[in-house]
Amino acid sequence: MAQTTHAQIEERVLGGTTARRGDIVIVSGEGCWVYDEDGKKYLDLGSAQGVAMLGHCHAGVTEAIQEQAATLTLCPSYLYNDKRAEFAKALVDVLPKHLPHVFLANSGAEAIDGALKFARLFTRRSAFVATTRGFHGRTMGALSVTWEPKYREGFEPLLATAHVQFNDAAALDKAVTDKTAAVVLEVVQGESGVNIGTPDFLKTAQQVCRERGALLIVDEIQTGFGRTGKWFAVEHTGIEPDIMCLAKGLGGGFPMGAFAYTKAIREVLTPGAHGSTFGGSPLACAAGLAAIQAYRDEGLIKRSGILGANMRNQLRGALEGVALVRDIRGLGLMIAVELRTKVAPVLKSLMLSHGVIALPAGPTVLRLLPPLVITEKEIDLGVQAIAKAIKELPA
Ligand SMILES: *Cc1c(COP(=O)(O)O)cnc(C)c1O
Repeated sequence: MAQTTHAQIEERVLGGTTARRGDIVIVSGEGCWVYDEDGKKYLDLGSAQGVAMLGHCHAGVTEAIQEQAATLTLCPSYLYNDKRAEFAKALVDVLPKHLPHVFLANSGAEAIDGALKFARLFTRRSAFVATTRGFHGRTMGALSVTWEPKYREGFEPLLATAHVQFNDAAALDKAVTDKTAAVVLEVVQGESGVNIGTPDFLKTAQQVCRERGALLIVDEIQTGFGRTGKWFAVEHTGIEPDIMCLAKGLGGGFPMGAFAYTKAIREVLTPGAHGSTFGGSPLACAAGLAAIQAYRDEGLIKRSGILGANMRNQLRGALEGVALVRDIRGLGLMIAVELRTKVAPVLKSLMLSHGVIALPAGPTVLRLLPPLVITEKEIDLGVQAIAKAIKELPA
């Protein structure tokens, strides 16, 4: 039985850091669907951890990767490259205008680590301020600004970081001093429950950073590229971060990270201040260029705002009066169904009995990050399955 074999090999060789949700082995994907070894299909409302924002194997991205793979995959940063230049231009064209420079990396955590380094270099200060329930990745730098104690345990001491209550503007005001290199935060917290930053908190963050010479680093790794109904979540708020971190949707499914920064930061950079062997490879840039074109040309950013609002309304309708549901919230196609019970059994039954893949966000929140190409029919299917899975729970 091939299915058992693949699962067993993975468990034996790669096991240890991940809790698996079942024995199924995924072998292919198309649009919002993934398929297992037995040919059973699953509606992927998690976009493979928020990455497959264009769906799986988007035609434009696939073609760009295939073409570039047969042309040139590698080009070190000390040599110029046509695709890298085209991608850089396309990226800054969609970024906020005050962020005209970008460093190219390979993952979200790497983008955060680079941002923390640039903040230290620019301010010549060492300490950071982040938020409770913030999630920024698992490398030593990114982990330092991440809050969740169970991720940090066993790895301390980390970089000096004060965590202030998310959305507590007064606490933030108190925590930022003339020793602070940067404040790091998400506009909408993803991993910890789709918690939306209040305008007051976000504006205070910008204001106290400016006043005290610290930088504002906004983590848009999960919220970027239309997830919340705007190109970037900062556009809902009017704040202008000094550095913005990107990954997940950036490469249209190809591993890629980046951070964008201001002209003032550009001026302190010197050759060798930062670097990456794989970052900005022509292969990644070809994928990223095709992805940006798809977000733009297929009208996916606006679509996310409209479909997201519809999906929340449908969920509210389908789950009305269900006592186990505490709250339904979100922004664009970034949606949380908060329960009064553990979410793990819901996720398992959703996948195994209803053929729908969703994500957790903390112990009691069901998180939905559907591909932006999802159809209304697929949303309908997903909502009905979620309602069934929750209603089937023992009360
Ligand atoms: C996923 C995520 C990260 C980490 O990205 P990796 O590519 O897994 O390192 C950081 N911040 C946020 C908000 C994320 O959602």
